[in-house]
Amino acid sequence: MQNTKVVIITGGGRGIGAATAKLFAQQGYAVCINYKSNEKAASLLADEIQDAGGQCITVQADVSQEVDVLRLFATVDNELGTVSVLVNNAGILFQQMRLEEMTAERINTVLSNNVTSYFLCSREAVKRMSTHRGGNGGVIVNVSSGAARSGSPNEYIDYAASKGAIDTLTKGLAMEVASEGIRVNCVRPGLIYTQMHADGGEPERIERLKSVIPLQRGGEPQEVAEAIFWLASDKSTFSTANYIDVTGGL
Ligand code: NAP
Repeated sequence: MQNTKVVIITGGGRGIGAATAKLFAQQGYAVCINYKSNEKAASLLADEIQDAGGQCITVQADVSQEVDVLRLFATVDNELGTVSVLVNNAGILFQQMRLEEMTAERINTVLSNNVTSYFLCSREAVKRMSTHRGGNGGVIVNVSSGAARSGSPNEYIDYAASKGAIDTLTKGLAMEVASEGIRVNCVRPGLIYTQMHADGGEPERIERLKSVIPLQRGGEPQEVAEAIFWLASDKSTFSTANYIDVTGGL
């Protein structure tokens, strides 16, 4: 049996995923940093982890595409060993707008990147983790969003609805595999300082909204990573189908 635990972090090259990759590496996990297009960010992060004595690889894969997901998991099987933790983190959003302006292409792109991707990666993880299939069990942590509850009106209800789907995936899959040694949990970040808000067309979005956050500030990626790590660790062995909101009280 392999000694080192293996974690796959989708969208691990920057933002919340990068903070999560660093934390798992510090805790002795062999880390797979998946990225879609920003190879530079992923390889700089890998260098940083390796310079600190950690074990990691980077794998380019668009996790909305089944063929890429199959290649991602096969690469990890070959280079690191069987996955013990999957962090479904990759996500996108587009320019803020109302529903009347949204194209079908935009809606489908958001859903395939934010929802289909989590289903496909979870499927491949369960195939390897399930004790009913000869696996050693494992943990899946889904990164959803406080938007699943707010609905993000006038900004991006497509994105918010995609995160609502992740909350439901968490519940259903957790029940489906609870007797197979697999726990499935979810972290719902609030307003976190990453590049994502610029992608929505408002880099200063957190500055505009922070006065409504009870803690009166945005969150740091590391603060989300801590919740993800706890849910993946042996400190949370009685938690499944559970949700941690990391929203500063919002
Ligand atoms: P970010 O800085 O924009 O990073 C997004 C990451 O996802 C990037 O590494 C990107 O890869 C990757 N990615 C996107 N689509 C992908 C795909 N199809 N295949 C593989 N990788 C893909 O965003 P973030 O803020 O860290 O967000 C991480 C997660 O937290 C997302 O699920 C997001 O919805 C959620 N979240 C964020 C906030 C917030 O305020 N920031 C709040 C609530 C929830 P490249 O680097 O290659 O482009």
